[in-house]
Amino acid sequence: MREFVLNCSALEIMGVGLVFFIASYLLFGAVNTLFTRKILPAMQMGKPLDLRSLSAGQYRREIQLSAVTVFIFGAGVIFPWGLLQLGWASLAVDPSLSQILMEMLVLIIWNEVHFYINHRLLHTKLLQRFHLPHHGSIVTTPWTAYSFHPVEALMLGSVLMLPMVLHDFSIHALIFIPLFSLLINTLGHANYDINPASRFFIYQGMRRHQLHHALFNGNYGFMLPFMDKLCGTALQKNSDESVTR
Ligand SMILES: [Zn+2]
Ligand SMILES: [Zn+2]
Repeated sequence: MREFVLNCSALEIMGVGLVFFIASYLLFGAVNTLFTRKILPAMQMGKPLDLRSLSAGQYRREIQLSAVTVFIFGAGVIFPWGLLQLGWASLAVDPSLSQILMEMLVLIIWNEVHFYINHRLLHTKLLQRFHLPHHGSIVTTPWTAYSFHPVEALMLGSVLMLPMVLHDFSIHALIFIPLFSLLINTLGHANYDINPASRFFIYQGMRRHQLHHALFNGNYGFMLPFMDKLCGTALQKNSDESVTR
């Protein structure tokens, strides 16, 4: 895999990137839809978080925006690939399993920080217009995950550039991050509480992001709460269902 990435042409790497992101987006979206709209309700497991209806034409709008995002992410693989070709970044040679796992953990934490910073910027007056298309989905669906303005897609898609310049990551960790990110992203937009009694951190992350869509301000983090807690932007839902900051 490492040799293939290093030796392929610019067109080939963009083609591989496009196939990777198209397949991942369709697969994760379809599986998530199947589980949260069919299988889990049929098993009487969990419940929707926000019971309001979707807006008119929401699915069509989300798919249209996502198609552009998938293209940007897919063709955009040329940027980290370009770092490798220019010699500004390198890939680890024969990394051990422990190195790969440690790198995944570091990139998961970095992804939280990077997402939080960019998401906060997208909520400023200057950049908000590039984030409003994503917030067009007040009640979210698994297909909201990539429903971004192209500028937002470019900002969020830059997540691996800085780490790659600072450290020689394994190709495994670098491929893991977009897959992990898309999985959490589709879960976070599923508008479904899989187990309302559970405090499992992924379920908590799903509730936090749905609340962000419902209220617009607060809960800017990705999956974990630490950035919102550090920066004082966490929303809390009380037992009486009212919301406080
Ligand atoms: Zn937002
Ligand atoms: Zn969202």
